[in-house]
Amino acid sequence: MYSLPFAPLFLLLSSACVASSDQKVLQETTDSSCHNACQALSLSLGSLTHVGLSPSHGQKFFATQQANLIPACIFTPSSPRDLSVGLQTIKSYGCHFAIRSGGHSSATGWSNSDGGVSIDLGEFKDVELVKDGIARVGTGAKWGDVFDFLEPFNLSVVGGRVSDVGVGGLILGGGISYISRRYGWAIDNVKNFEVVLANNSIVNVNQDSAPDLFWALRGGGNNFGIVTRFDLQTYTQGPMWGGFNFHLMSYSDLTSRQSRLNLTSTSSLPYVHSFISNTVSLIWRALCVLGYCIPVNTFFETWQNTTIELANNLHAANTLLSFAYVADVNLHLGCTIVHYTSTVGGPAAYGSISKLPKVYNTYRNASIRDFCDEQKRVNLAGSRNLWLAATFRLNSTLISHIYNIFLSETPSIRLVRGGGAGVNFQPIFLDTIPHFSKNGGNPLGLFAQKEPLMMFGITIKWKHEADDAAVHAFGEAFLQRAVDEGKKMGLWHPYIYQNYAGKGQDVFEGYGEENRKRLREIRGKYDPEEVFGRLVPGGFKI
Ligand SMILES: Cc1cc2nc3c(=O)[nH]c(=O)nc-3n(C[C@H](O)[C@H](O)[C@H](O)COP(=O)(O)OP(=O)(O)OC[C@H]3O[C@@H](n4cnc5c(N)ncnc54)[C@H](O)[C@@H]3O)c2cc1C
Repeated sequence: MYSLPFAPLFLLLSSACVASSDQKVLQETTDSSCHNACQALSLSLGSLTHVGLSPSHGQKFFATQQANLIPACIFTPSSPRDLSVGLQTIKSYGCHFAIRSGGHSSATGWSNSDGGVSIDLGEFKDVELVKDGIARVGTGAKWGDVFDFLEPFNLSVVGGRVSDVGVGGLILGGGISYISRRYGWAIDNVKNFEVVLANNSIVNVNQDSAPDLFWALRGGGNNFGIVTRFDLQTYTQGPMWGGFNFHLMSYSDLTSRQSRLNLTSTSSLPYVHSFISNTVSLIWRALCVLGYCIPVNTFFETWQNTTIELANNLHAANTLLSFAYVADVNLHLGCTIVHYTSTVGGPAAYGSISKLPKVYNTYRNASIRDFCDEQKRVNLAGSRNLWLAATFRLNSTLISHIYNIFLSETPSIRLVRGGGAGVNFQPIFLDTIPHFSKNGGNPLGLFAQKEPLMMFGITIKWKHEADDAAVHAFGEAFLQRAVDEGKKMGLWHPYIYQNYAGKGQDVFEGYGEENRKRLREIRGKYDPEEVFGRLVPGGFKI
């Protein structure tokens, strides 16, 4: 997600409060099939198998609740053949397993196993340029490393926007990139997948060798096999322009909305927190008086109008709006992130957004790698995370209504420490849709779209496991009310972006019944025993 979608200033603020994570009590696994599988892996692939606690393994995950899981063993293959042999062993014991590339999924158990085998693909990290402008990229590489390799050649690929996100998970879920306006999503630019299938064979999957599986892998998640390498089309790309704007929401707008919604804070805060909140509130109000705060409706309307104006400007790569509530200091922030894939034309294209009142801005010309690093700095690992997603037709009035819902739900997380809740909107421009037909098409179900869409993402960060129930109740209620509002206004769309969705959301329903049926048929052909359905609890299941 794009983070700010992820992650505005509130994450910077909150990161200061997240010095350590509460550790799960370490337990021995009691799952004997996995214990036996791990013993067998140790015997056949000993140097690649780690049994016992591994603190460094936990550090490979973005979300604390994933990092805290204790697998029975960690299997770290370094070649497709090792992986194939290991998979055969794990399967034969009926042990459940998780597949990790970059470990950035925020859902518990999605890429680290609780008591089963964690397959860590971090050794598949090679990047090389081969003929016809194709980059071969290992699934375990991080996007920052991929851009480091390609930028000296003035080349790029349709990849991630944050340096330490993994290649594998991002591509298999869709992959929204800085250059997606010009070339589509990452899945549309894969020329070939190297995959270990459920029957242990190692195959190259492309439009000629297996068009059905090639289609399914481009949005089908981890249901079809374990991908070890992606062959990606490269494109000429030099430095570009863009950055963040951090905004303070207008204090008077906010309080008048809160009073119209009859919102009064009932939570009594510990003295220190209430002292900090009151001080922050004083500074916030003073800054608003000085003209630094943004009127709420102007914020949403400017973003919508800019998105409409940029409909035919393919360099206008990234137009993201976000608002956030920092519970620790009771502060409401806004953020816009814009990127233009040329060093010429960006300031004019994003003129209206740039004129909005702001407290901080990072506009500059820089490389994709540099922008990815900036995103990494505001998307710090080490918190508990919940992400949820939906899609609507582009409409700023709906955003304003969703903001009211947000205001009326946030009091329930007023006492949650170490983070806050963020909301982000990013457009799917109509000119991106034709790219979904490239290379035989993809299963996302968006081909017939006739109006621009906005993806809606909720991202919540917090510190203590004890707050899980409150945060999940907040996130689910907020999502449901936002979807209900979208439906009421006739603006809801069934598509849910897999890479931003939360556990329990039925992303494949949004692909459409026909595509889901076809995905199931293809799974039946390539994984008739449903190894990836039965033994891999993580990931969205078709
Ligand atoms: C800070 C941050 C920034 C982000 N920015 C963007 C962005 O700009 N654009 C975007 O589109 N998304 C973005 N995302 C979402 C991101 O794409 C997903 O979280 C993605 O799943 C991460 O991939 P990973 O390999 O790091 O994750 P992992 O947690 O390792 O894997 C995610 C899922 O994919 C499966 N999987 C991983 N590798 C393989 C494989 N080789 N074969 C089969 N299954 C596999 C795993 O089993 C798991 O279910 C961002 C996420 C974060 C946390």
